[in-house]
Amino acid sequence: MSGSTAPSRKRQDPDPQAFSWAEARARLSDLGEGRINLAFEALDRHMDGPAAERTALRFLARDSLEARDISYRALNERANRFANVLDELGIRPGERVYGLSQRIPDLYAAFFGAIKHGCVFTPLFPAFGPEPIRQRVEIGEPTVLVTTERLYRRKVAEWITQTPCLREVLLIGDVSDVDEAPENTRDAGALMDRASSQYSTRPMAPDAPVLLHFTSGTTGTPKGALHVHEAVITHHVTGQYALDLRPGDVYWCTADPGWVTGTSYGMIAPLTNGTTLVVDEAEFDAERWYRILQDQAVKVWYTAPTAIRMLMRQGPELARAHDLSTLRFLASVGEPLNPEAVHWGREVIGLPFHDNWWQTETGGIMIANRPGLPIRPGSMGKPIPGIEAAIARQGESGLQILHEPDQTGELVLKQGWPSMFRGYLNQEERYLKCFDGEWYLTGDLARRDADGYYWFIGRTDDVIKSAGHLIGPFEVESALLEHPAVAEAGVIGVPDEVAGETVKAFVTLKPGHAPDKALQKELLGLARQRLGPAVAPRQIEFRDQLPRTRSGKIMRRLLRARELGLPEGDLSTLEGGSND
Ligand code: ATP
Ligand code: MG
Repeated sequence: MSGSTAPSRKRQDPDPQAFSWAEARARLSDLGEGRINLAFEALDRHMDGPAAERTALRFLARDSLEARDISYRALNERANRFANVLDELGIRPGERVYGLSQRIPDLYAAFFGAIKHGCVFTPLFPAFGPEPIRQRVEIGEPTVLVTTERLYRRKVAEWITQTPCLREVLLIGDVSDVDEAPENTRDAGALMDRASSQYSTRPMAPDAPVLLHFTSGTTGTPKGALHVHEAVITHHVTGQYALDLRPGDVYWCTADPGWVTGTSYGMIAPLTNGTTLVVDEAEFDAERWYRILQDQAVKVWYTAPTAIRMLMRQGPELARAHDLSTLRFLASVGEPLNPEAVHWGREVIGLPFHDNWWQTETGGIMIANRPGLPIRPGSMGKPIPGIEAAIARQGESGLQILHEPDQTGELVLKQGWPSMFRGYLNQEERYLKCFDGEWYLTGDLARRDADGYYWFIGRTDDVIKSAGHLIGPFEVESALLEHPAVAEAGVIGVPDEVAGETVKAFVTLKPGHAPDKALQKELLGLARQRLGPAVAPRQIEFRDQLPRTRSGKIMRRLLRARELGLPEGDLSTLEGGSND
């Protein structure tokens, strides 16, 4: 075992000059002939070291605040059992295994077990309706579906006979009765109990596929992004550089594995780094969340702007009623983090939230307000070591890199980091369109300031063009959020004969505020004062809630489609879009 997990107690901003991906690779294990296995790095590698008896998963069941601890050794053995079950069923490396389950311990065992065996894993949101699940099965053609009995009955049973690719349905969690289910629907827990706990994790080529992840569907039909085993190098180092993970830390990532944050940083990075990972089966509940932070003595907490805004909506008292003093580092991802949220963290929790930026396609954190770097509220931070970012524009002679600071353009990344996606499933052309020479085009607009910090402007699809101005929804939403009555804001462009487009804002309010004309006027005034009349919204409409993806992103395209009476497009990832 060549990898070193020695903790450096004092984490400093790493010197980007001294970093290379080859050096980062060398920190992990050498399985011979350059081979690697993502699950080996998360589990097997710890078996000879001090982490073996440490708690890997600290699991809280849906209806309880009592934790059940599972050690690295126990999780490794359970994953081995799952790998053996796949082997016994004749499942071969390279075949796809889908996971559709609440966050329960055997989902984690199945994830790592399938990867140990060389299979490609795809996690799905358990809250998806039957149709989005069937669609994704048709696209990805898995041979195995790992799910629970309840989800099977509610979301799979009705279409399973139409998908011949699915050879095995493996039920995890409590199984009462599989007698009536079709053949090849098995109680996986029982099979795992009988299987051997020893398994020799398969050494894989660095570019062998390991994960197929569907994007959030914020801008359209979700794409299936393919990732490879060596992605674990990025997960491992960004866990340290961007999230400050240290061996033995209690760490909580609130994202579901149904989207990429929940696997890269809710499964892989915390385990390669030897932390104790809190896994909460329940959905968001402000009081429960504060209890978990307090009772489990969480040190590092990774969450999303939508959750932070929901906590802010509850007011500071609830937070202050809990002892949150064990927290050392807070981070946020998924959407732009409004400066208000950074300040709120500082004032109410005692620590600021560190925003970071990445995508399903990048596989790992690319730009971050990393530990050691002074935070600029509203900025995503700077590229992590090993990542070269730039701002670019399409010019007459092709892609033009804008070297001067403070220019708005597309955020592009130089190819070559290990967790870069290697394809969109069945969409080769679309994949190739994401690249221009050595650059990967992210589809997001940003600017870089003179000190190298990156500022998110908006998605290329969401940006509003009004009377010659390019308006990012984020800056307008952030200005509205400065008002104490505003809980959330979503901003779109609506056609206008004179200006091309004008800005319209949809706003939800904190409890105790009335959605009346006076408030509307006040908000319009505030926005005009902060942003100037060219950028400020012309119209503000109050809503009880905003449409959101299951990963918590405001779906501006849906606000716009509904406003303009356009087709609503793919709604498979819309929160509340199906009955759970
Ligand atoms: P789809 O590609 O299907 O439309 P999606 O882009 O929302 O969905 P993800 O890969 O889950 O799917 O999200 C990545 C996107 O989320 C980024 O491209 C960016 O637009 C947004 N994002 C993520 N983190 C941040 C952040 N810190 N600040 C601003 N935007 C962010
Ligand atoms: Mg995207």
